[in-house]
Amino acid sequence: MHFSANDSSVKQAGCHIIPVKPDSENLLASDKKHIWHPYSAMGSDLPVFPVESAKGVRIKLADGRELVDGMSSWWCAIHGYNHPVMNAALTQQLDSMAHIMFGGLTHEPAVKLAEKLVELTPEPLQSVFFADSGSVSVEVALKMAIQYWNARKLPNKQKFLTIRYGYHGDTFGAMSVTDPVNGMHALFADTLAQQYFVDAPACHFGEACSNEDITPFQQQLEEHKGDIAAVILEPIVQGAGGMRFYSADYLRRVSELCSENDVLLILDEIATGFGRTGRLFACEHADVAPDIMCVGKSLTGGYMSLAATLATEEVSQTISNGEPGVFMHGPTFMANPLACTAANTSIKLLLESPWQQRIAAIEQGLKAGLEKCRELGNVNEVRVLGAIGVAELHQPVDMKTIQPMFVDAGVWVRPFGKLVYLMPPYIIDESDLKSLTTAVYRVLSSVSR
Ligand SMILES: *Cc1c(COP(=O)(O)O)cnc(C)c1O
Repeated sequence: MHFSANDSSVKQAGCHIIPVKPDSENLLASDKKHIWHPYSAMGSDLPVFPVESAKGVRIKLADGRELVDGMSSWWCAIHGYNHPVMNAALTQQLDSMAHIMFGGLTHEPAVKLAEKLVELTPEPLQSVFFADSGSVSVEVALKMAIQYWNARKLPNKQKFLTIRYGYHGDTFGAMSVTDPVNGMHALFADTLAQQYFVDAPACHFGEACSNEDITPFQQQLEEHKGDIAAVILEPIVQGAGGMRFYSADYLRRVSELCSENDVLLILDEIATGFGRTGRLFACEHADVAPDIMCVGKSLTGGYMSLAATLATEEVSQTISNGEPGVFMHGPTFMANPLACTAANTSIKLLLESPWQQRIAAIEQGLKAGLEKCRELGNVNEVRVLGAIGVAELHQPVDMKTIQPMFVDAGVWVRPFGKLVYLMPPYIIDESDLKSLTTAVYRVLSSVSR
């Protein structure tokens, strides 16, 4: 089904009976009985929709309905689904090997990918550590920073400074630098490392950063630099912690303050990397080069789980020449050849595509299409940057009613909390993009009181 929401179908959506095949019913019953979904309760009665397949920007549900994808499967599927070039490359790699351990062995997909990442990221980043997910790459980044200062005989530098509303992943180290309220730190208080937090910058993207904006950060940094190993930030766009876009000038000043105060800078480009904000990496907006950078999510075009942590030669050489002379990490599936092949192919597809024009066109389409949402009583703010469009509401959405409404409107949009947002695959055309923004407007207007 193409987008065909009229007001009545959207309004009735809450009490729609979704037709499902009998095998889908079994699937759903078994799913409900045995499977945890992200951030949810076992046996929850929040809707879950069985997917049969996906191609291009369309997700086909088991009941035959087709949805226009507004999420890129959480920032990943930048080329859409079931891409023939990706499929062919993975099939070919499968014929030589799916996996091989990385201890004492190496292979072309990993070497090519490392070369490419070094070439594309800021100049000083020269060493690559492959991790199996974004959270793990953040753990690796934190450990690198700590080991770096250990090697420099400053073992007290073990803490991290960051800003509120960040998101860096769900493992313990990554969680410790994620927003303490969103991340429910209180639940894990005795186990979770305590880090330093400052308020998120009030200066928005496109604005300058005043002394007042940077002072709280500067004060914490100067006061605690003796025990801070690194500052960790998502550059420009704070993703899952609040979809906030902050001033490039702020990031530039943070970077300068880090160098002046002997603290490393870790930039987490897991959500922003590979073009999403209009630049290949978001740090380019501020023209800063971090000491350590994490990439993940769209790295493989959404095909496989893979992430990487890049470090400067200064960081990697200091760790390698210090005590104990090795970096203490090594995942089982490190540099999985299939995942590296997916990444090599995805990056090639991206760089050979007119991605800048595509992102600019998506940005225009999101701005034009979401503009009307501003007039709705339940919408607090609309903001767009690159291929990211956000309607922030005054109140959190009711997922139980709103999720089926989007599906009935023919789109896959998954809000969280007060945030209804779009980050479509880069290959989306104007009319599908319009379907997404129209559906957001209609659904929000029908739940607006
Ligand atoms: C998604 C995300 C992570 C965590 O990545 P996973 O692959 O889910 O572990 C870390 N940092 C940022 C900025 C992210 O968006």
